Amino acid sequence: MVSAPVSSIVVVGGGTAGWMSAAYLAHWLDKTGIRVSLIESDQIGTIGVGEATVPGIHQFLKGLNIRESEFLRATNATFKLGIEFVEWAGAGKSFFHPFAGYGVPLEDRPFHKTWWSQKKQDYEEGLEAFCLCTQLARAGKFALPSFDQDSKLAWYNYAYHFDASLFAKFLREYAEKRGVSRIEGKVERVQLDATTGYISSLHMESGMVISGDLFIDCTGIPALLIGKTLGVGYEDWSHWLPCDSAVAIQTTRVVDPDPFTRSSARTAGWQWHIPLQHRVGNGYVYSSQFIAHDQARQELLGHLAGEPVTDPRLIRFKTGMRDSFWYKNCVSIGLSSGFLEPLESTSISLIQTGIAKLAAFLVNFEINEKHVAEANRLNRLEYERIRDFIILHYKLNGCDGPFWQYVRDMPIPATLEEKIAIFASSGDIKLIEQESFKEESWISMFYGFGREPLGSVEPQLDVDKARSIMAKMKSAIHKGCQHAMSHAEFLRTVE
Ligand code: FAD
Repeated sequence: MVSAPVSSIVVVGGGTAGWMSAAYLAHWLDKTGIRVSLIESDQIGTIGVGEATVPGIHQFLKGLNIRESEFLRATNATFKLGIEFVEWAGAGKSFFHPFAGYGVPLEDRPFHKTWWSQKKQDYEEGLEAFCLCTQLARAGKFALPSFDQDSKLAWYNYAYHFDASLFAKFLREYAEKRGVSRIEGKVERVQLDATTGYISSLHMESGMVISGDLFIDCTGIPALLIGKTLGVGYEDWSHWLPCDSAVAIQTTRVVDPDPFTRSSARTAGWQWHIPLQHRVGNGYVYSSQFIAHDQARQELLGHLAGEPVTDPRLIRFKTGMRDSFWYKNCVSIGLSSGFLEPLESTSISLIQTGIAKLAAFLVNFEINEKHVAEANRLNRLEYERIRDFIILHYKLNGCDGPFWQYVRDMPIPATLEEKIAIFASSGDIKLIEQESFKEESWISMFYGFGREPLGSVEPQLDVDKARSIMAKMKSAIHKGCQHAMSHAEFLRTVE
């Protein structure tokens, strides 16, 4: 069993992954004497997308003692209550995936089951009426959640949309202030130790040689260290997630920012709309097997509200994951470790959990094979669970056209088959190890796509009692929503 002590760490790459890693390490390793440096190449640049997050981002910012207001100002961020899925369930339809559950459990039973048993008895109100988070989003409003025990209906979560380049700049300042040294330039060659196969040094184009004990590969899609140098394979999931390209463009903002991300189904994929304080991020994620790039670009340009402020940019990717995200003395974080399309904004959260695994399994600041194996096992499960959740969106789609037909008919992983079957028969959600998306997220998808349990969900309350409780919930949510400020107004109050 190899065990190697770490006294210097080199992060290669200065995109979101690189600077998140460097900032975290600077904070975590303060006063340990472990040196951290970061190499980035201005010539290569960063991928320049990746601006919508999930609520886990709070833990990252809190862990680094970063104040929310400071972060919002520095990155031109807006609040995000979830994602609106437009036309995914069919023409003219929209549903919302909130960072929240629905209603309050009644007699120990999840609320959606009460609602469903009423719906079977001609109750017409949709599930979304029982979610304050969704109602705020739909009204273009924002309020901070309440975690007061007596107001469970106001328990929801939120995330942010931010400018990726400003976020990297913000974290760079944070990391440099705490001792991270930044080296600008291109890594040309990676030297391995002949005995251990560990990375020993990096040779820069400038002639400089940088050595270290642990290397964090944040070089993005090229995966210079983990892939190209160490030869760790990449598991391709494009048979389940056939989108392999995106065209991205930034536009001016012509209306107040929505407090949510919008994902609209298009001919061979979907379009994102990410509102920031100063502009909007837009893009079309598509499968090149089903649409040509020029057509996709035209389709995107035909669906923009504001004026373009950048040229449309083509990005190619392969959906999948690195066989091992940690191999010998190299840990891959960010796009070098894998990619799942941004349908649920999960890449930045995977950066965060990747860094957390590094911190948890670098026990006593030593690389230990047993710990590395466990970190890799957990990372794989986490990726697979998110993969399944994303595939679900395609599998249940109600759209027309060859792309949508293909993804509706394609075989899916057995783990997902099972979840769909369990929901169909009982309305239950079976969560397994390392699940990022909890029950409420799956519920919002199933009902959003118009799936309903086939089996009977026995009503546990009589109709009058159930409906009277539901009416009270709805009215409390309505009031909560009425009292909230518009999202734009709320943003103006942030100091
Ligand atoms: P990059 O940004 O590509 O950075 C790589 C860094 O490595 C750069 O600094 C580069 O200069 C450096 N580098 C590379 N080679 C060398 C070398 N030889 N020498 C020196 N330096 C080198 N994620 C979300 O969470 N939410 C989203 O909404 C979202 N949307 C996305 C949309 C699209 C179309 C795509 C493709 C991705 C999206 N992502 C999203 C993912 C997100 O963009 C990435 O996870 C995030 O930006 C991290 O990228 P990175 O830092 O790994 O790579």
